Amino acid sequence: MAKKTAVITGSNSGIGLGSAHALAAAGYNVVINSFTDRRDDHALAKDIAEKYGVKVAYIKADMSKGTECRALIEKAAEDFGSIDVLVNNAGIQFVAPVDEFPTEKWDAIIAINLTSAFHTTAAALPHMKKSGWGRIINIASAHGLRASPFKSAYVSAKHGILGFTKTVALEVAEQHITCNAICPGYVLTPLVEAQIPDQMKAHNMDRDTVVREVMLEKQATKEFATVEQIGATVVFLASDAAAQITGTSISVDGGWTAA
Ligand code: NAD
Repeated sequence: MAKKTAVITGSNSGIGLGSAHALAAAGYNVVINSFTDRRDDHALAKDIAEKYGVKVAYIKADMSKGTECRALIEKAAEDFGSIDVLVNNAGIQFVAPVDEFPTEKWDAIIAINLTSAFHTTAAALPHMKKSGWGRIINIASAHGLRASPFKSAYVSAKHGILGFTKTVALEVAEQHITCNAICPGYVLTPLVEAQIPDQMKAHNMDRDTVVREVMLEKQATKEFATVEQIGATVVFLASDAAAQITGTSISVDGGWTAA
């Protein structure tokens, strides 16, 4: 049987890279994406291909630009023959009070964290409809369900992606295509690692104290989720076992949203 193809946006780092490893380990051919096009990005694709014995390509595309989002899907379909799993993962963060929030940061977060999923999904659906099977998995956040101060753009984008998830699920429900979201709590990736020094300074705390008392304050387990755990959830949602799960979200947040 031909291998299925998974496209993961923003996958040269963190949760995207973890999901690429998990999908490759499960036997999917994988498309890695970022906007950087560094030698390391291509090396990453080669390493994953060799490690799991699947076909892996790196495709450069800037998820802040609609035309590049759509071009990523078309290039992947051309190179691999189908688009079976789409993981909308690319995301950025910026933290500031609403009345000081730079407009360009708002626009970038909405474009990368929300609008890119519209473009990639719109481009991928015709391919999925043609093959009569598909999985769209949006990496949202606990911030798709809860707010935190100073994260207005991020919280808006992540709430938006949950609405988009439900809408797409309803539109394609009878075509064996599902659309779901994963809502991680804090996962120790470069996106989160970069916030630790600022938090240490702001709270005058050492690293361990700031991680436990500030960052993981709402995460009941007081532990970070891992990229492997998010990757495993992606693989589950892509599996046939999840065929009747659609239009919903799975929290991997150490109990954050239980409270
Ligand atoms: P990360 O910084 O490690 O990874 C972000 C990825 O997005 C990178 O691969 C980067 O290259 C890519 N990216 C950024 N801008 C891009 C652009 N314009 N075009 C293409 N690719 C671009 O961060 P992460 O923590 O792995 O975040 C991945 C996703 O998970 C994001 O959507 C984030 O909001 C979400 N998330 C993360 C956490 C967490 O605690 N780390 C929690 C909840 C949700």
